[in-house]
Amino acid sequence: MNNFDFCNPTRIIFGRETVSQLNDVVPADAKVMILFGGSSAEKTGTLDEVRASLGDRAVSEFGGIEPNPTYETLMKAVELIRSKDIDYLLAVGGGSVIDGTKFVAAAVPYEGEPWDILLTGGQHIKSALPFGTVLTLPATGSEMNSGSVVTRRATNDKLPFMHPLVFPKFSILDPTKVYTLPERQVANGVADAFVHVIEQYLTFPQNAMVQDRLAEGLLQTLVGIGPKILADQKNYDLSANLMWSASVALGGMVGTGVRHDWATHMIGHELTALYNIDHARTLAIVLPSLLNVQRKDKAEKLLQFGERVWNITEGTEEARIDQTIDATRNFFESLGISTRLSGYDLGEEVIDAVVKQLEKHGMVTLGEHGNITPDVSRRILVDAL
Ligand code: NAP
Ligand code: FE
Repeated sequence: MNNFDFCNPTRIIFGRETVSQLNDVVPADAKVMILFGGSSAEKTGTLDEVRASLGDRAVSEFGGIEPNPTYETLMKAVELIRSKDIDYLLAVGGGSVIDGTKFVAAAVPYEGEPWDILLTGGQHIKSALPFGTVLTLPATGSEMNSGSVVTRRATNDKLPFMHPLVFPKFSILDPTKVYTLPERQVANGVADAFVHVIEQYLTFPQNAMVQDRLAEGLLQTLVGIGPKILADQKNYDLSANLMWSASVALGGMVGTGVRHDWATHMIGHELTALYNIDHARTLAIVLPSLLNVQRKDKAEKLLQFGERVWNITEGTEEARIDQTIDATRNFFESLGISTRLSGYDLGEEVIDAVVKQLEKHGMVTLGEHGNITPDVSRRILVDAL
């Protein structure tokens, strides 16, 4: 295990009717802005719950943050916040609203052009507005981490940044928010959380037994929940376990003290930026092919993953690795998620376009060994056709 310095400062308030606790956790004298997405928060009644809970504080609102939040929209929030002297943000939504709020929190006090936050991965952030979240979609783990991904529509750039100052102060996780999600978003949530665990676990053995067992427990839980929750979406226990799995998946404990991969995410971001495919679906396209192309580097962990998560114990090592990759692909397909580019009406034209974007964004040494060069990304995409 590598040395590490672990701190997750986000307070989690979990359970039914916890939105009513906002009044206790948002500072009484704060000038608050609520940030939200399209129409779901209003339609489902979550926004009304939030407004009621905040009582008679000075509250402004900014709606319209789109899935895969854009710099163009977020900069409008930045201007408004600067002009109104807002000092506390509250994100009400899924990963897009929370990621967008993180960017806004860092951009408001940023000296210089805020797009630099994305170009430098967050390195030069010196301060950020404090914010909390009310999570409405379990998937990204953004409610309990310090990462964010923002898209610049004008140039099709979808880039991540991280900084300890953008951990939420608190996140309210009410599992009943799952009940109103479209089935497609529930499936996406299971798949995104699953791949977050995989990207931190399925690298090479580092004798991190605790992290491995945590990861395998989460993967087993997600495999157990996946198809069941699609058939029984208003089941509180399934929703609660999905919500907590997704937060823990990317809340830091699984990935501490070990090397990460993240190539599936970086290639996936380009697919979303260019073709507007849902984030989780891009991961389901890339991951099985990446595991196939990287099967030698990842052999030991693929065998462990196969045995401990999929109960694959028979056959030669090559055969077990094949079965493990097939089981992973079949899991995504069982959620109604296509794992081939052809399933999204895309073909060979994608390959050059994605590789060009990866090169433009400096994503040329991806993976835990830094050996996923543009040429390897190309082979992954060919495998995914
Ligand atoms: P999302 O883009 O936040 O939301 C997807 C859709 O779900 C939206 O159309 C939204 O509608 C709707 N929705 C949300 N909550 C709902 C509810 N309770 N009932 C009904 N509809 C609801 O989805 P996401 O998967 O959570 O976030 C994806 C983004 O997160 C991507 O940009 C991805 O790159 C990023 N991401 C971030 C991290 C991280 O660690 N920070 C990790 C992985 C991915 P409305 O717009 O109408 O509200
Ligand atoms: Fe993700």
